[in-house]
Amino acid sequence: MGSIFSKIVQGEIPCYKIYEDERTLAFLDINPEAPGHTLVIPKVEVDRVYDLEEADYQALMATVKKLARHLEDTLGQRTLIKIIGIDVPHAHVHLVPFTGNLDEKVSAAMTPAEMEAMRAKLEYKK
Ligand code: AMP
Repeated sequence: MGSIFSKIVQGEIPCYKIYEDERTLAFLDINPEAPGHTLVIPKVEVDRVYDLEEADYQALMATVKKLARHLEDTLGQRTLIKIIGIDVPHAHVHLVPFTGNLDEKVSAAMTPAEMEAMRAKLEYKK
């Protein structure tokens, strides 16, 4: 249980958290492809999304659905939903506000202050 995302779940390293429930957590991607780029993760550390226990998979996808709509309502852009999982061996779903550019190498290069402002804007209140 040592992935960087498990350390975020356990509060050992910080994140720009926008949502949390019993089984899932959502926070801003530290290297956003677009402002508002969010990661949704299961709290349990499992590498591949398709290896999750059913209850964790359903909880993850319920959070993805809720936050994808929330991001679009808040930012006014369609939300792209992507699962890659090459870099971090802890299942995660990318929610990326669509800017018209599908190039994953594009970085929004946001300052910590801009990230915190975006976090506050996107914080999901149940
Ligand atoms: P991938 O595994 O290819 O889906 O990419 C992993 C994603 O996790 C990348 O978009 C990283 O920018 C992001 N990431 C890695 N470490 C952190 C972190 N500490 N906080 C937020 N996002 C992170």
